[in-house]
Order: sequence, then structure tokens, then C-alpha cells
Amino acid sequence: QNQTLPIVIIGTGLSGYTLARELRKLDTETPLVLVTADDGRSYSKPMLSNGFAKGKAADELAQADADTQAEALNARIMTHTRIEAIDPEAGRITTGAGTLDYGRLILAWGANPVRIPLEGDGMDALYQVNDLTDYGHFREGVAGARRVVILGGGLIGCEFANDLINGGFEVEVVAPDPRVLPALLPEAASEAVRAGLEEAGVRFHLQHSARAVHRTSEGVSVTLDDGRVIEADLGVAAVGLQPRTELAAAAGIECGRGIRVNQYLETSAPGVYALGDCAEVCGHVLPYVMPLMAAARALAKTLAGERTPVHYGSMPVTVKTPACPVAVCPPPADAAGEWHVEGEGRSLRALFRSENGDLLGFAVTGDCAGEKQSLSREVPAILP
Ligand code: FAD
Repeated sequence: QNQTLPIVIIGTGLSGYTLARELRKLDTETPLVLVTADDGRSYSKPMLSNGFAKGKAADELAQADADTQAEALNARIMTHTRIEAIDPEAGRITTGAGTLDYGRLILAWGANPVRIPLEGDGMDALYQVNDLTDYGHFREGVAGARRVVILGGGLIGCEFANDLINGGFEVEVVAPDPRVLPALLPEAASEAVRAGLEEAGVRFHLQHSARAVHRTSEGVSVTLDDGRVIEADLGVAAVGLQPRTELAAAAGIECGRGIRVNQYLETSAPGVYALGDCAEVCGHVLPYVMPLMAAARALAKTLAGERTPVHYGSMPVTVKTPACPVAVCPPPADAAGEWHVEGEGRSLRALFRSENGDLLGFAVTGDCAGEKQSLSREVPAILP
């Protein structure tokens, strides 16, 4: 590894900027370049789905622009510059603005929103909100709207539903699963969240897929699989995220669901690392803030000369649905055990225990959501 060449970080999301900041605490000298397809503004992505509750427009969510960040990090930041190829053998990346040689390369380029193929001419009219620019367009689009239809009943769909209902909109949610947050919550907890959101005014069309989306004079119409049509002023698609792997795979870097890295965040290519939403860390794809913070701290030490593994403790996820607060630590996918549900109404404590009684996961809703911290301490670490 050539120490005179820069450390190059691709991406200025929370992963890229957190890593750069952590690195600069340990190493103020090594040349550092950040390359980003966007404008390089720093912001906290979780704020995108509670912008109405917080009353924040896109510009108010931006914490600093690229120039301010470059100065604070003693780094060069190349904005609006898209990586097109990586050559790990030559230690070189190709961007829309030419080539750049790196000493070490860090892939922190996030995940793409999943696009579902739908009939009709309205796909482009659906908003997908995965960065600050998207959010700016969405806020412009929603100004003057009354009815919003959301495709997707997962974390982001539910958070947007709650935020928009708080913002005074009429909200309908279409999702193919029989319940909300199916990937994260046991059934009883899903029901509590759905009931909370319904009471707040959200209308669900569960167990129904969208078949087509059309532009209309007022906005969009979504046709469901049973032929019903939902008319709305604006549509949002929130049907999942897919780690960006194409360019890494094209460079011969091993990928699975994400870019595969070991506990040192090393990809299969020497000198190339990955973290955040694009990475699959020892088999775990965890597209949340806590894991990327832990990864950034460990990788910063490695880049500064002390090779350091990342450790994940338990990683509780808080779902920002104030209509029914939820925190969840899903049990491992292959864990043997059962859910035990206590509580009533919307305040539930669902505990996933192994046969010998060990707590392997939990979901807490309503008044029980505050038990997140104490329960998290009992759950085994994800990556010890
Ligand atoms: P990103 O923020 O996506 O950054 C990727 C960067 O890579 C961008 O700068 C992009 O421009 C750049 N890039 C991409 N492709 C290229 C290319 N080819 N060339 C150059 N640059 C490129 N997590 C929680 O823990 N709690 C929450 O409450 C929560 N709420 C969320 C709400 C919403 C609406 C969303 C979408 C996510 C939420 N998450 C939440 C997830 C969390 O925000 C993400 O895990 C995290 O922000 C990912 O950061 P990242 O830096 O890895 O990726």
C-alpha cells in the first residue's frame, strides 16, 4: 500500500463523513479525498422521514456544505463526481472527471432504492426519498398536495406515513404483506403499530400489491391487484433498499447481498474497504446508523495504522412512528426459539427466547418502548 497516495472515500453520507471525521482524530496528515455523486452536504439521513414533525425543509436539514466539510476535515471533496470503475490492481478509480490513484480506497456509497416494475406511465411520478436532494424534491412536490399514497409498509413507509399524517395529509399505504414492518416485528407488535397509525388516520391496503401507476391531472392513480384505484396528489415508493454492489462486482470484488467484508472491513481486494449501507459485514447487512458508526471508528484506527476489527453489540432499531413508538432488536435469522408477548393494547413487550430461556431478541411498543436500553443489554452481541 502506497502511503503517499491519498486515502480515497467514495460517498459523503453518514458513513463517508463519519469515517473521515474519526480518521482525522487519529491522523491529521495523510492526504484524504472524498468523492461523491451528490453535492456533498452533510446531513443526518434519519431526519428525512420526520421532517414534518420537526418542521424541517431540505436546506434546514443540511448541517454543512462540502466546502465547510473539506476545511474541517483537511480533505479534498469532489462533488457531483460519480465513480464509474475501480481497478484494484492498478489502485485507480475512474470517475466522470478522470482517473484518480489511491493508496487505500473505502467504498461508502450506500444503497439504491428498489424500483418495482409497474404498468402505466406514472413510475417517474413516484417519489423515492433516499437522500437530501430527493427530500428537497419531495418537499416541493408535497406542497399543495392533500392526498398521498405510499407504496410499502416497512420501516421507511411507516415512518413517512406517520410523518405525513402529522403534517395534515390524507395518507393511504399499499403493501403486499398481511402486516406492517413484517421483516422487523412479530405479529402482535406489527398489529400495535398498524392500530396506532390507523387511529392517527392512516388507511392501509395490506395484502395488496400495486399493479399499475398512472399520471393524472391531479397527480397519480395507483391500481391495486384487485382492480381498485387509489387517486392521490402524490405517490411515494418505499419498498426497500439494495446495497450498491454493481461497480464492486464489476471490479472482481466479492459481493453477496452487499459488498462482502470481514471484521476488519476489508473487501476481497487488497487496500479496498467497505462500510455502511453498501457493505455486508461478516454476513450482516445492517442499513442503520449504529452499525456504520461502529464500523467507522474501527476502520479509522486501521487506516491510521492499528488494524482493528469492528464489534457490533446488540443493535436496537427505533422506528420513528410516534403514533405507536417501537424499538426492536430482531433475533438472528436462524435463531431457534419463540416469541412471548406481554402487555395490552398498544403497549407490548415481545421477547424472543431460546429453549433455555435466553433473550435473543425483542420488540417493545407504546409505553414499553422505553425498555429498549435495558433489554438491549441482555441481548447477545451481533458481532462479538
Ligand atoms: P448514503 O447516505 O446513501 O450515502 C451514499 C453516498 O455515496 C452518497 O454521498 C452518494 O452520493 C454516494 N454515491 C453513491 N454512488 C456513487 C458513485 N457511483 N460515485 C460516487 N458517489 C456515489 N437508520 C437508523 O439507524 N435510524 C433511523 O431512524 C433511520 N431512518 C431512516 C430514514 C430514511 C428515510 C432512510 C432512507 C434511512 C434511514 N435509516 C435510519 C438508515 C440510515 O440513514 C442509513 O443506514 C445511513 O444513512 C446510510 O449511510 P451511508 O453513508 O452508508 O449511505
